[in-house]
Amino acid sequence: KRAFYIGRFQPFHLGHYSVITSIAEEVDELIIGIGSAQRTHEANNPFTAGERVMMIRHALEDIDIHFYALPIDDIQQNPIWVSYVTSRTPPFDTAYTNNPLVIELFEEAGIAVKQPPMYRREQYSGTEIRRRMLADEDWKHLVPDAVADVIDEIDGVRRLKRVSGTDG
Ligand code: ATP
Ligand code: MG
Repeated sequence: KRAFYIGRFQPFHLGHYSVITSIAEEVDELIIGIGSAQRTHEANNPFTAGERVMMIRHALEDIDIHFYALPIDDIQQNPIWVSYVTSRTPPFDTAYTNNPLVIELFEEAGIAVKQPPMYRREQYSGTEIRRRMLADEDWKHLVPDAVADVIDEIDGVRRLKRVSGTDG
């Protein structure tokens, strides 16, 4: 059994990690789609697809699952989005997502959808983590240690602050 899970992972946090550990108990292989892959150096999308691949690979090192982390660019064409995804991924039976548009597109294409439960959403949220980074509040406890290391390595908080700034 092979499944698909998509997110932007800006950054990859413990909510994503907890969803993936529970999916890992149900499937043999997991395709992790890195959405909006072409977006980077923006306030809502600070990290590159390659940096997000690195976060996921290091964060999941200790989990017993065979996974593929694959960048998926936005194509801005909903009617062909499912075929676009499936043309770039190994075949899969089930998609795990809570995004209403993604649910609709997969179900119309006849692909089974499962909605993973939200895990402490008020803090395990990319938006909340980016807000904390900009405000110099604590955020490292909300991501796997390996992700905090990647963000330090690439000086990610400094980048986020710069790309979120204005001319003044
Ligand atoms: P952002 O605030 O930037 O949108 P996010 O936390 O929603 O970030 P995404 O990358 O958009 O993260 O989410 C990918 C998938 O992970 C989505 O289907 C989302 O519903 C799910 N997800 C996000 N946070 C959690 C969480 N705390 N528990 C379970 N699932 C989550
Ligand atoms: Mg989101």
